[in-house]
Amino acid sequence: MNPLLTPFDTAPFSKIKDEHYKPAFLKAMEDARAEIDVITNNSTAPTFENTVEALEFAGQQLNRVSSLFFNLNSAETNPEIQRIAQEVSPLLSEFSNDITLNQELFARIKSVYEEKDKLDLSIEQHTLLEKKYKSFSRNGAHLGEDKKQRLRKIDAELAKLKLQFGENVLAETNKFELHLTQASDLKGLPEGEMEAAAQLAKSKDKEGWLVTLDYPSYIPFMKYAENRELRKKLSLAFGSKGFHGDELDNSANVLQIAKLRYERAVLLGYASHAHFVLEERMAENPEKVYDFLNELLEKAKPAAEREFRQLEDFARELDGIDQLQKWDGSYYSEKLKQKLFNLDDEKLKPYFKLENVIAGVFKVAEKLFGLQFEEVFDIDTYHEEVKTYRVYDSEKNFISLFYADFHPRKGKRGGAWMTSYKSQYRKNGKNIRPHVSNVCNFTRSTPSKPSLLTFTEVTTLFHEFGHGLHGMLANTTYPGLSGTSVFWDFVELPSQIMENWCYEKEALELFATHYQTGETIPMELIKKIKESATFQEGMATLRQLSFGLLDMAWHAGDPTPISDVKTLENQAFKGTQLYPDTPDTCLSTAFAHIFQGGYSSGYYSYKWAEVLDADAFALFKEKGIFNKDIATSFKENILAKGGTQKPMVLYKKFRGSEPSITPLLERAGLLPKVG
Ligand SMILES: [Zn+2]
Repeated sequence: MNPLLTPFDTAPFSKIKDEHYKPAFLKAMEDARAEIDVITNNSTAPTFENTVEALEFAGQQLNRVSSLFFNLNSAETNPEIQRIAQEVSPLLSEFSNDITLNQELFARIKSVYEEKDKLDLSIEQHTLLEKKYKSFSRNGAHLGEDKKQRLRKIDAELAKLKLQFGENVLAETNKFELHLTQASDLKGLPEGEMEAAAQLAKSKDKEGWLVTLDYPSYIPFMKYAENRELRKKLSLAFGSKGFHGDELDNSANVLQIAKLRYERAVLLGYASHAHFVLEERMAENPEKVYDFLNELLEKAKPAAEREFRQLEDFARELDGIDQLQKWDGSYYSEKLKQKLFNLDDEKLKPYFKLENVIAGVFKVAEKLFGLQFEEVFDIDTYHEEVKTYRVYDSEKNFISLFYADFHPRKGKRGGAWMTSYKSQYRKNGKNIRPHVSNVCNFTRSTPSKPSLLTFTEVTTLFHEFGHGLHGMLANTTYPGLSGTSVFWDFVELPSQIMENWCYEKEALELFATHYQTGETIPMELIKKIKESATFQEGMATLRQLSFGLLDMAWHAGDPTPISDVKTLENQAFKGTQLYPDTPDTCLSTAFAHIFQGGYSSGYYSYKWAEVLDADAFALFKEKGIFNKDIATSFKENILAKGGTQKPMVLYKKFRGSEPSITPLLERAGLLPKVG
């Protein structure tokens, strides 16, 4: 008996063997196809119920098998699971292509869509219909045959170019090595980083030390190495990836990607690639993104320039540097930060024992949303370290199951994330509650020392828990609109807003007590945490804005006139530049976020999300960080609603107005000092 094909409520982890997955995928796909056939073979006229809603609930078993399998592939994988993932991934994309290319299905949806104003649909149903229709039309379902063919050709070409782009960046990254044979060349690096560099050399049968362009090697060297010439060498190598005019050069690929994206968008009826992407974002269109970036730029620039001058003065004083260069930035910033704050993790960690922080985040959720977390031991898990909780509201109604998996293991990927094993939805009068999970990589305890978190890990835990609340408190009809199924530039609001409580005395007093003495964290430390969090925020903001503006320069218009990558960059960076330009470097040719990953026309969303969370939290600050009315409004208008309405509509219901950038500027210390 395959446990994945037997109906289950909580995931039956302990019963699943690796050999169960593939047959389960095949059977679930077959069933889903049959469910879709029922829709297309229906001889009665298409209605919202028999077509749109039926499609939404088709393939639920497949969704459960998929989420379970891919969650495990991240949290507890093995070579066999990885092999199965390689095998089923193409089958899954074929399956979803078969749906979007299914003309009979599209014809039925289109017919409902064209009648939509005459149908008596709820807001949520309206959103579902729009989403389903767009999932076809944005892939060209409404185009004539010749255009459809061109679209498929563009997609195939784009896939190839993106792959080539990524391979070139990787090859460039791997090609470069800074091989050092004298310890004096690494002067300034902390012992651990020296060791890592020695290890790296050893692993390649080399004497001495190796520094590479991989982040874990590159970042510490730029931050700590005293040797300015070596920093320069490394920085120029890093900044010129894909820009050497050789076979690994990405300039032509970048130009071609931008042009094909533009052609694709125009073919589908949009003014540009950015218009196409932003149609399904809270920001809606390029004009709004530009306004947003430029307003932030205008406000952040004076602070950035002030900070830059401070850094210049500091470097001049310390080492007689007359012209600060890109390769000096993180080195002197680190030194200046040490001088100003002298705040190290070891001082804070004793106040953040993992168990205390977990109890703290639960307490915060209780004070805000009336939630109760009850640890339970009768739920099947995939590893003995995974904790399980039943979550109840203040009236003892069951709200969600919550899995928490906190420590690193072989078989778990790095980082921290939220995911779910079961979506929330309503069907046949029943509200099906979700199964939500947080997965992190915090140092585990030892017999002599508990697990103590760094402050960054504390905010990470609150962040992922915020995504978790978005899932747990979901209250919608359709699973595809539930919880975190929202527009991309809106999904970080529930997570980032939770981080704010980590800086508040009233919240820290609930859980930040010294694990040995029981003393509450001193206010003076909290103050320092806050101040150091805004250190060089102006410069950091300018940097983020420069990436966002470059992204828009590539995607918000017709790229045909662009002939030279570097010229476009210089143009885009004009307003954000602090350091002198280095002509041999280029960002676009290695900007994987937008040319390989999925961030094209979306880089702005990092800052956008910060503006949202700062603006939303400002209301809590104003009315009290544990104000029940505000919390309830946040729950009902944002968390419970998922993607059932446009995010701006939901946000305005909570906040009373569109988001303002002022609270972020204030929090980041970017407003002119008064008095
Ligand atoms: Zn997040």
